[in-house]
Amino acid sequence: MPNTTLIIKLVQVAFLCCIILPACSVGAKEYLVGNQADYVSTVAKLEAGDSIVLKNGVWTDFEILFEGQGTAEQPITLTAQTPGQVEISGQSNLSLAGKYLVVSGLVFKNGYTPTSTVISFRKSKEKLAYHSRVTEVVIDNFSNPERFENDSWVMMYGKHNRFDHSHLEGKSNKGVTMAVRMNTEESRENYHRIDHNYFGPRRILGSNGGETLRIGTSHYSLSDSFTVVENNYFDRCDGELEIISSKSGKNKIIDNVFFESRGTLTMRHGNDTLVENNVFFGNGVDHTGGIRLINKRQTVRNNYMEGLAGYRFGGALVVMNGVPDSPINRYHQVEDSVIENNSLINSEHIQLAAGSDLERSAVPVRTSFKNNLIFNHDKHDPFTVYDDISGIDFEGNVVNEVKDLKIAQGFESLALNAQRADNGLMYATSTTAGVSKQLNPIEKAQVGVKWYAKPAAIPTFDQGRTILVEPGLDTITNALKTASNSDVLSLADGSYTVSRVLVLDKSITLKASSKSPKVILAFERGALFEIQEGGNIKLSGVTITGKESPDSSGNSVIRTQRRSMLSNYELLIENSEIVDLDINHSFNFLSVAKGTFADRIEITNSRFKNITGAVLSLDKESDDYGIYNAEYVTIRDSHFESIEGDIVDFYRGGTDESTFGPHFELSNSTLKKVGYGKRNKSKSSILLHGVQVTNVVGNKFVNTPEITVLHTVGEPVTKIIGNAFIDANKVVISELNSDKKDTATVSDNTYKSSED
Ligand code: CA
Repeated sequence: MPNTTLIIKLVQVAFLCCIILPACSVGAKEYLVGNQADYVSTVAKLEAGDSIVLKNGVWTDFEILFEGQGTAEQPITLTAQTPGQVEISGQSNLSLAGKYLVVSGLVFKNGYTPTSTVISFRKSKEKLAYHSRVTEVVIDNFSNPERFENDSWVMMYGKHNRFDHSHLEGKSNKGVTMAVRMNTEESRENYHRIDHNYFGPRRILGSNGGETLRIGTSHYSLSDSFTVVENNYFDRCDGELEIISSKSGKNKIIDNVFFESRGTLTMRHGNDTLVENNVFFGNGVDHTGGIRLINKRQTVRNNYMEGLAGYRFGGALVVMNGVPDSPINRYHQVEDSVIENNSLINSEHIQLAAGSDLERSAVPVRTSFKNNLIFNHDKHDPFTVYDDISGIDFEGNVVNEVKDLKIAQGFESLALNAQRADNGLMYATSTTAGVSKQLNPIEKAQVGVKWYAKPAAIPTFDQGRTILVEPGLDTITNALKTASNSDVLSLADGSYTVSRVLVLDKSITLKASSKSPKVILAFERGALFEIQEGGNIKLSGVTITGKESPDSSGNSVIRTQRRSMLSNYELLIENSEIVDLDINHSFNFLSVAKGTFADRIEITNSRFKNITGAVLSLDKESDDYGIYNAEYVTIRDSHFESIEGDIVDFYRGGTDESTFGPHFELSNSTLKKVGYGKRNKSKSSILLHGVQVTNVVGNKFVNTPEITVLHTVGEPVTKIIGNAFIDANKVVISELNSDKKDTATVSDNTYKSSED
């Protein structure tokens, strides 16, 4: 098959060349320009068939306006002398206006746009681009340094435009990576094509506004867009819960691959969209999801989902309930839709009539669910049914030996044998349910540009050299100067004093070199470590004391840089002791700045004692914009004693539902006399405000005030199980924005007084 396709394509290409090439050569001029002034004067005289070529090198602070009137046979082109050798840096962007324009070969890096967009298919509200193409362009980490300054990388306006074979990687500030805009009549029914692009890693934003691709907005969602999104590769697009948000009618989202991307492809608004031949590989990564269906006449056909761990609105397949007579920005009822021949392999959740509540009470109607294959090795039933599903017609679906299927009709439970075929997908023998054998997922190497490498996995700790460090004054400081990313500073037993703040802009491990360590670190400034862009830290087997710290309030062992930060960081502490942070008041273990974000903070088998502040102070986003400071906070097998503040003060305000986190776990740990300091505003041992997933399991609370859990939005999953409370206040759980009874599971806890 592929060979035949290739031959046909070659014939087509050869045929096109015969027609176009002679036409191009007639009177067409090529201009090589080396500076911005030449560019501007040259663009003004370009005629159909001409091309303007940017000299290789770095072009700084270059706002490129590419305006012209080409023709279908003779487009006007803007390109690089050598593709990939023209870097657009600093305060730069590109706007296209006119028709039949083609841009290629540029790399946007080391800067950000001064406007709201990096590549815009318009010059102004009135001057748009039509029949134009941006191809083989790279935008790499071209993010505004202020994390919550909103901008976008590609905005498509006009009609019949194409964005293809491009590479978008590392957007870290707020704002959708790419969007199709329909805000004027001239941009509706646009027939844009977005294909063969590499949508590279986008890390968790920690707020709404981290979508990768949006087509339309709710406002114009009853207009048709006719946008085609095909053969793109979405690699770890983790920004928020929507990877693609289709918000307009008659789009086609076909033949794309989603690799380990947290979130879903959502038909959020608009009707008549086709979602076909897409492949999702979750590999069990938290919150990897598939397809979420809302609205009328949608088709979800021949899609393959494997290893998707997501739940609730982020499940492998989600069919929503709607709002009766829904306002345009809420949820329209699912009607007349088709879900057929999809394969859901080893995926956790399929949700039907999801979101059912007093407002979302309109159940799916006249919708079919046919010939789908649902295969789970563990034979679990992935369905959750939240409301009446009699409006869904089930037929010919096959599951792998599920006992007591929740939906009996239209499913056959068979003892299936699943095998991986040459196309990399799993098929069950003895059934034709599920995706076609012809489905051929596009590979990473087939998308984006050939001349720009795709990023490998994010480097972790302990992959580099080991640097031996002896005790003394500033020996760590000096060792750190020679260390590279992922190196380990191996500390010999003894006392270390650090006279300056250790700035971390790489991943560094500080590790005791002996098995039963006596490594003691003291520091003379307001912080021992400051995490900056690119910094991550792991502490292993060390004792840190605040004895030598300045006698002033507000010290910290670790802090983030004072201004906002684009890079997410990691902080791991194991087998360590943190003691005597008590030279003055409000001495925290970790203090963070607004606009900073930890992917994970893990404390394992460690002891914290005599601290006048909080252990983890993660409460800087108090504006209630739905922003927060850390995704996963995990504390296991640890001991906290005589802490005046709370061990965690975790704040995620607002009522927006676009994030999966924050997550909090505390297990097998002891808290003794924690949280009674007069400056502890929360009056709690732990404050969890708006945390989405909480597990407090198997701990001992001795002489502590309450654990305060404030639920803000959605359906937070809170479990407080198997803890012992001794002379300790209980758990206080409040629902801030709903009149629902609280949804927490609080069970198997014991409560007693030491006098009992
Ligand atoms: Ca969103």
